[in-house]
This record gives sequence, C-alpha cells and structure tokens, in this order.
Amino acid sequence: MARIADLLASGPTFSFEFFPPKNEAGWLSLGRTIAELEHLGPHYVSVTYGAGGSTRTRTADLVSWVKRQTPISPMAHLTCQGHTRAEIRDILIDYRAEGVQNLLALGGDPPADGSEHAVSEYRFSSELVDDIRAFGGFSIGVAAHPEGHPRSPDLVSDRAHLARKLADADFAITQFFFEIDHYLSMMDDLASHGVDKPVIPGIMPVTNLAQVSRMAHMSGAEVPRWLVEKVSKAGDDPEEAVRIGVDIATELCARLLEVGAPGLHFYTLNRSGPTRDLWRQLGLDAPPDAG
Ligand code: FAD
Repeated sequence: MARIADLLASGPTFSFEFFPPKNEAGWLSLGRTIAELEHLGPHYVSVTYGAGGSTRTRTADLVSWVKRQTPISPMAHLTCQGHTRAEIRDILIDYRAEGVQNLLALGGDPPADGSEHAVSEYRFSSELVDDIRAFGGFSIGVAAHPEGHPRSPDLVSDRAHLARKLADADFAITQFFFEIDHYLSMMDDLASHGVDKPVIPGIMPVTNLAQVSRMAHMSGAEVPRWLVEKVSKAGDDPEEAVRIGVDIATELCARLLEVGAPGLHFYTLNRSGPTRDLWRQLGLDAPPDAG
C-alpha cells in the first residue's frame, strides 16, 4: 500500500479511475478490465462514489477488492453533501480498518431531481478535508476544475476556494479538459495564491462524441470545435473514432508531461482499450532506460 502524497514526491504518477458497477455483468466486465490494466503497473487506481452515498457499499467493496486482490493501491472517492458527520466518521473508521490510505474528498452534487438531501451536515468539500485531516492517517486529494466549477458564480472565487482547500489537502485531480491552456492558467492562478501542491490532470480520451459532450455539459468542460471536427471524420466507424480520440489525448498528455504535470489520471469508464492504447503511445510501457 502506498500513500499518493509519497508517490507524487518521487515523480509523476499514472493512475486509473473506475466506477463501481451496478450489476453482476458489470462486475464481470470490470474484473476483465482490471486484469487487462493491472500489468501496466499504475501507481494507484481510484473508485468513484455515488453522490449522497448511493454507492457507499459498492465503492467500499471495490476498493477492498482492489486492495486484497491486486498489488495496486486504491483511492476511495468520498462525497460529503447528503452525509452527516457521524456517517462520514463511520466510513473513515471502516477504511482505516481495511488499511486504505488514500481518499479523494469531494463535495458531490445535489440530487438530480432538485430535491434537498434529507440530512446534510456539509456544504463544501473543504469541510470534509478538515474532518478527514482531523481523523488522521489518510493522504487526501481534492477535485480541481480547470474551466471553473459549473455552479461557481465566477472563476475568481472558484480559484480562491480551490486554493484554500488545496492548501489543506495533499494534491488535486482535475476534471477532464481538452485545451492545455485551461490547465496552465489554473496553475498560474494557484501559484498567485501561493499554492504549489501537485495538481494531476484528469484525462478522458474521446471515443464517443455524444457521450463526452453530455459529460462535458454537466462538468462545465468545453468540447472544442476542432476536436468535434477531428473525431467526426470517423463517421460511423467506432474503431476509427477511438483511434482519433486516443491520438488527441496522447498529444495533450505528452504536452502536459513536457510542462511538468505531476502525473496523469485516466478516466477509463471501466474499459481498458483506449487507456492501453494511450499508455503505449505515450511510451509508458517502455523500460525506464529504453530512452
Ligand atoms: P467543492 O470544493 O465543495 O466546490 C463546489 C462549489 O462550491 C464550487 O463552485 C466552489 O467554488 C464552491 N465553494 C467551495 N468552497 C466554498 C465556500 N467556502 N464558499 C462558497 N463557495 C464555495 N462526484 C461524485 O458524486 N462522485 C465522485 O466519485 C466524483 N469524483 C470526481 C473526481 C474528480 C477528479 C472530479 C474533478 C470530480 C468528481 N466528482 C465526483 C464531481 C464533483 O463531486 C462535483 O464536481 C461537485 O459538484 C463539486 O465537487 P468539489 O469537490 O469540487 O466541491
């Protein structure tokens, strides 16, 4: 088991994100995906958490499974909106007992139907960071939104809140983005707030335009016109769309590493193919001294 803060201190980290499946078929498919990605030797993998606790047990089950059945260190996502402080404490007690050392502390989103969470003792992820820090023993990550959080009234206040929570956390992982300038200007803004903690770019290879546009709309990310035009050239050929999407992501990742990004976090959507292609194209499977 490794703490992500320690891994980051020794060089760039390369990691994968999974979500806990809803049914038996999903678990079988994810088992195959993890088997196919495990031998790439990621530094850690992360497991998402359904807002309001909707995947509480499934997230914990998947995190435990990764920890017990693979050599990879897991990180559990945890959202605070919709939870009481006592519930969060119970979750932290369970993760500590399981030997899990990494948590991504998130705000989460209000229920999609517009209703209020029944009981919520948290408003912002920074309050969760404080509680996890006080509990002790975890390496703590937070979410960063290079283009601003969609609920933020403006970018200036969003950056100030990000700087404040990152000052108390160990590292951040970003929402996906397609223009490197979004990442660079966020890093400049954080530097102007005196924050120099590692911010790991989250990478989403576009393999399906409709799906990514939907996700981008929800997360406040821009899908640039040039990207739509490039991927659209694949027409009805899904394999060609994946190839183009992986090429675009490879270029972005290579540039991010050139400018000193502290790692890359790949949103796998529980599939191995695009991540494996991206990994190979970035030369991450080459022995370290192969040049
Ligand atoms: P916060 O840091 O609480 O920020 C939310 C908003 O509040 C922002 O607009 C911020 O500027 C503002 N804000 C923060 N502090 C204050 C303050 N003190 N006063 C006023 N305004 C403030 N969602 C899930 O449900 N499950 C997941 O597993 C999950 N994983 C994610 C992983 C990554 C890498 C990322 C980038 C996002 C993930 N999300 C996940 C989405 C995330 O929960 C949503 O984007 C959520 O709306 C905001 O989360 P946050 O942690 O950025 O919230």
